[in-house]
Amino acid sequence: MDKPDALIDMLSTISAVDHHCHGVIEDAIDADRFQSLATESDLPQTADAFDSPVGVAIRAECAPLLGLPRHVDGASYLGARAELGPREVTRRLLSAANISTYLVDTGYGSDDITTPAELAGYSGGEAFEIVRLESLAERLARSGCTASGFSATFRGELESALRTAVGVKSIMAYRYGLDFDPARPTEPEIRSAVDQWLRSGEPRLTDPVVLRALLWAAVDAGRPIQMHVGFGDSDIVLHRCDPTRMTEFLRATVSSGTPIMLLHNYPFVREAGYLAHVYPHVYLDTGLAAGFSGASATAIVRQSLEIAPFTKVLFSTDAFGLPELYLVGARVHRLALARVLGEWLAADAIGEADARRYSELLLAGNARRVYGLNPR
Ligand SMILES: [Zn+2]
Repeated sequence: MDKPDALIDMLSTISAVDHHCHGVIEDAIDADRFQSLATESDLPQTADAFDSPVGVAIRAECAPLLGLPRHVDGASYLGARAELGPREVTRRLLSAANISTYLVDTGYGSDDITTPAELAGYSGGEAFEIVRLESLAERLARSGCTASGFSATFRGELESALRTAVGVKSIMAYRYGLDFDPARPTEPEIRSAVDQWLRSGEPRLTDPVVLRALLWAAVDAGRPIQMHVGFGDSDIVLHRCDPTRMTEFLRATVSSGTPIMLLHNYPFVREAGYLAHVYPHVYLDTGLAAGFSGASATAIVRQSLEIAPFTKVLFSTDAFGLPELYLVGARVHRLALARVLGEWLAADAIGEADARRYSELLLAGNARRVYGLNPR
């Protein structure tokens, strides 16, 4: 099994757990919408998405599944996509991605996005919800919750959501930055901050004290906390999304044992690897970055495996809207793993049994263990 081809075959038989993704859009979409969904940017672009790393990967990897040659041009790809219809395209791409389990962040989306069950239905897989903390708090604010009742109500709602959901997600990186005060806010501090927020009439939660209160409630809940790190749209300030900026928070939460899942991490993959190496409750993935980097994903996946234990690195696509992002995310990730593990095997740095075991852990086993999912 020293050839990358044999490794790719082995990796493609492992059904993956995508531990962070969103739904797909089931309705027909026009070329402009496709272009905007094929970039992480929220701004109108001057560049054609088909001429980006992910666009090239879509034309290479997805085109054959639509009956087209590899590397077909973007217009022909969209033509075939429209002819087959979005549901048939989704069925083909999701089946080929070989993802058996989706952990779906339901806190962000549009009206036409699938529910977790609908998403899983396309490929006969299973799906579980990840609760976005900020969305839950904003829902409480809209429902007329008072400042004095907020803290207890939030904790109650979180607990009931976690009866079926398997983890939570924080977008502290978007709403403030990862250089937040690590201290647990007191109840009077939370009350006064919530009061100010509710009085402002601003639906979007950006108050750092309230944001911290949500995080600490999640720490107490004890289920995995996914945190957006690094690469995102124009709403983030990238240098404040370096995960080492929350080192004090990680120190303060070691004893809780609550797993902290660092998502995406680009370009701070090495920083995230360092944190996963040192802190027993820290895990990382390279989702989003691996998919959007297409043919360059090997370099990113390689960095994620430099110093972090192989039992603490997970797979995700962070796909949103386009089924192409699931297929590309899964394919380039498996290809990157095959190249890295293939090199190690060729150098006799690891044995075949370890290569197989790590492949299973990196694609599925680590996520099943940390989120408490049953084997499939
Ligand atoms: Zn996401």
